[in-house]
Amino acid sequence: MAISKESVLAALSHVDDPDLKKDLVTLNMIQDLEIGDSIAFTLVLTTPACPMKDMLVNACKTAIRVMVDPQIAVNIAVSSQVQRSLQGDQILPGVKHVIAVASGKGGVGKSTLSAGLAFSLAHLGAKVGYLDADIYGPSAPTIFGTTEAPHMVQRGDKQIMVPVEVHGMKMLSIGLMTARGQAVVWRGPMVASAFKQFVQDAAWDDLDYLIIDLPPGTGDVQLSLVQTVPLTGVVLVTTPQEVALSDARRALGMFSMEQIAKPLLGVVENMSYFTPEDAPDKKYRLFGEGGGKQISEEYGLPFLGEIPLNPLLMSAMDTGKITPDSPLLVPFHSVAAAVAQQVSILQSK
Ligand code: ADP
Repeated sequence: MAISKESVLAALSHVDDPDLKKDLVTLNMIQDLEIGDSIAFTLVLTTPACPMKDMLVNACKTAIRVMVDPQIAVNIAVSSQVQRSLQGDQILPGVKHVIAVASGKGGVGKSTLSAGLAFSLAHLGAKVGYLDADIYGPSAPTIFGTTEAPHMVQRGDKQIMVPVEVHGMKMLSIGLMTARGQAVVWRGPMVASAFKQFVQDAAWDDLDYLIIDLPPGTGDVQLSLVQTVPLTGVVLVTTPQEVALSDARRALGMFSMEQIAKPLLGVVENMSYFTPEDAPDKKYRLFGEGGGKQISEEYGLPFLGEIPLNPLLMSAMDTGKITPDSPLLVPFHSVAAAVAQQVSILQSK
């Protein structure tokens, strides 16, 4: 008997996306269904960084085997379509998600994580922008290996800034504005207006994810920045030491305050352990254990993962030698997938 599309869709409606807690048919994730000698369709995920990809493909095959036909070949192509979380917002109209990376204090690896996330998402196939708003230590020119100043173009009645393109990503940094030897002391109102220009008067165009590297700490500057931009959510970075954790708690407290109420996507722990090259099975936890996980539990937030301390990563980042396909970024891939997963979950609510 010929297999109908209805019977295949009925089978697939028993497969739930475990994060979004709805079935794949309801979520409109099954597209281009064709039935001939085999069953073929495209599984359209909410992010190219979906950590559930293999699990969902296997679950679809099993559902068809059990409920439709045990023999027929099933060919599933996987693609993704990132949905916009910033509905109705006139600022950044082509940007689907804005993710700010924050830390309670400097030096914990906020810029390293921001770049690691951006490069990993780009590596996984997303369209990525990077906005370095760290006025105290703009590091994107170093990490991306460019000091090219963004040029201006006329669009309508406005002069707008064109982000620099590096490794297929669009990048703007407060450091590119001061690269020509002028030392600029950024005062609060100047920072706010420069940031506003970066967000509102820049040609970001279409992006899946815009990653913002915020200045470290919890003051007026950070607050005014997060209030200028339509944020999908904030990722907090900490190192495992107790001193870093108390600053991280202050930052989590700030973003959770009722007047500010920015969605928190979760906590990442950086410099969690060190694995010597000649002892690849060992993890030396130099700065203590479990701090990041502990504060994420205290605040009821997802723990998004650990990044090891790696001197090779440091030298590659600090000399602009890192590229999206670098093996040094492997630990960031699962963190990027966890962040993208939280974004999709937040959006489905
Ligand atoms: P922040 O943005 O929080 O001030 P950075 O990302 O600039 O911190 O990191 C501070 C320094 O630590 C940089 O030299 C960076 O390369 C290094 N670093 C950060 N994370 C790691 C890591 N996981 N392994 C090795 N070096 C790191």
